[in-house]
Amino acid sequence: MENKTERFEKLLVKNGLKRTAPRLQVLEILSGRDSATSQPYLEQVMGKDADRVTLYRVLQAFEEKGIIHKVLDQQGTANYAICSDGCSAHDHHDEHVHFNCDNCHKIYCLDTVKIPALKVPAGFKVEHLNLIATGICASCSDKVN
Ligand SMILES: [Zn+2]
Ligand SMILES: [Zn+2]
Ligand SMILES: [Zn+2]
Repeated sequence: MENKTERFEKLLVKNGLKRTAPRLQVLEILSGRDSATSQPYLEQVMGKDADRVTLYRVLQAFEEKGIIHKVLDQQGTANYAICSDGCSAHDHHDEHVHFNCDNCHKIYCLDTVKIPALKVPAGFKVEHLNLIATGICASCSDKVN
């Protein structure tokens, strides 16, 4: 069985991206978490391994290639989550609801909860749909009960 690094390397190659340490590191961090990862958190974890500009470029390239998608939390901070297999370059299909927990402030992709297509007036074209639900996530409500 191929290991994680090999899988990430293949993903980069498939998308025409060179294998670089910061790219692999970002994939490793994002895929290892059950919730979306904020840009400040990524900066913190990567520390000296990648400066802010490098990280910004990595995230931008991944978003363009359909590898990750961006979610803004209630404070307007950018968070990133790995896309489902249905996404490809310039063609995202992340029309699922995002959940921002008021307690732990994590953002979850609720992949099974799809945002319904909107009926918009003639002449309008929806390109992005964003729906963020707020409340208490499953792991936080477990702690309360
Ligand atoms: Zn996507
Ligand atoms: Zn929570
Ligand atoms: Zn998502």
